Amino acid sequence: MTTFPKSVVIVGGSIAGLLHGVFLKRHGSDVTILEQDHSAIRSSHNAGICYGPSVQEFLRLYDDTNIQSCQAGVITKLAYRQNIWSRDTDIARHLTSWGVLYRILRANFDGLSSEAVSAPPAPRAGDGKANYWSGKKVTSLLKTDYGLLVGFVGDDGREESCTADLVIGADGLHSTVRSLVQAPVVKEYSGYVSWRGSVCEVDVSVETASYFQDRTVLGLLKRTYIVCYIIPPDSASLVPGTRLINWTARHIHTNTVPSGLVCDEVWKEHLAEMLPLVPPHFTELFLKTKNPFVTKVNDALCSQAVFLDGQVLLVGDALATFRPHFALATEHAARHCLGLGRVWRGEMALGLWEKESLNYATKIWLGSRVMGAGLLRGWAEFLLIAWKYVVLFARSKLGT
Ligand SMILES: Cc1cc2nc3c(=O)[nH]c(=O)nc-3n(C[C@H](O)[C@H](O)[C@H](O)COP(=O)(O)OP(=O)(O)OC[C@H]3O[C@@H](n4cnc5c(N)ncnc54)[C@H](O)[C@@H]3O)c2cc1C
Repeated sequence: MTTFPKSVVIVGGSIAGLLHGVFLKRHGSDVTILEQDHSAIRSSHNAGICYGPSVQEFLRLYDDTNIQSCQAGVITKLAYRQNIWSRDTDIARHLTSWGVLYRILRANFDGLSSEAVSAPPAPRAGDGKANYWSGKKVTSLLKTDYGLLVGFVGDDGREESCTADLVIGADGLHSTVRSLVQAPVVKEYSGYVSWRGSVCEVDVSVETASYFQDRTVLGLLKRTYIVCYIIPPDSASLVPGTRLINWTARHIHTNTVPSGLVCDEVWKEHLAEMLPLVPPHFTELFLKTKNPFVTKVNDALCSQAVFLDGQVLLVGDALATFRPHFALATEHAARHCLGLGRVWRGEMALGLWEKESLNYATKIWLGSRVMGAGLLRGWAEFLLIAWKYVVLFARSKLGT
């Protein structure tokens, strides 16, 4: 027997919130998403995102837009220091931008029309109701006799509330829901930042464009690395000549600069350090980037996902935020959602879903730390974290 919840409030309207929103709506639940950001449609600053098999499966089952959501990168190319020499691997990745994935999910959830999806699909027979309320910051959560009472503050400062049978905290790294249920969490700044940017492929030379064509290029430098791949702009166009070459470079840094506010001097200083170290195609890409931005790399791991007798759940980055080296954030969110489907279909206990989610999260959280230490830190830190990973792996095999 299926027992999908009747009414659901999801806190956070980014990728995890929308994946759960679309999923529940398609199974007949009435869903309201509360998102603190007030923009009608959000920008991703043209930053790339990579997704895995669970997101692919999710889109196959629940996406009705018929929009090609990604560029399937067929190979990963490795470039070492200044060598143009590279090696092709057989690692395949699905590459897109946060903006495109967001627009596709919004079209399916509440029929939002955008430059990517100009004709959103009609609801399916049996779909529940779907509301996406922007500019609503959730501030309180109370269990009452008639369900959960979710309090939020609107853009105009007015306090409002709504009730639901189930509340899903999909509100990211700094989750309010996680604080409200006093979930145990370890949260840490990694000590490094990501510089990010993108350049349209027609704005670079033919040689540079073809070097980055249809593949992920991983440039390994001393205690720094760069990842480049092709992504669609927010319009979702994958027509050659309209796509963007997106790059991310990770560096040790004791502080951070808010995205969009990088001053020219800082960028020039950074370029002066980087350019002598990188192969020529990367040099052209950096020099032609108009609006680079910086994001701080943090991680967080919660040791509980289910609260208030199963009426509150934490998912996505709210449950665990990984350092981005494996690019598994969206995969992790989609796994939560598909796993909960098994719970609501009566195929799995909620406790088992929680256990599996926490095991997976802990492995990726620690694995990402090992990878980060190997690429950006010294040997001592790498060996220490690798040892912790081995212990964790052995303990999970022994079931302890
Ligand atoms: C605008 C934006 C752009 C992004 N771009 C990229 C990218 O280009 N590449 C990449 O790898 N990752 C990107 N990410 C992060 C990526 O979405 C996540 O790492 C991953 O997909 C898991 O997402 P999440 O939904 O769990 O968390 P997040 O994406 O962090 O979303 C959490 C959401 O909850 C909202 N929220 C937080 N607190 C409250 C509250 N109290 N009340 C209501 N709402 C609240 C936030 O505004 C946010 O929209 C981006 C996130 C955002 C929000």
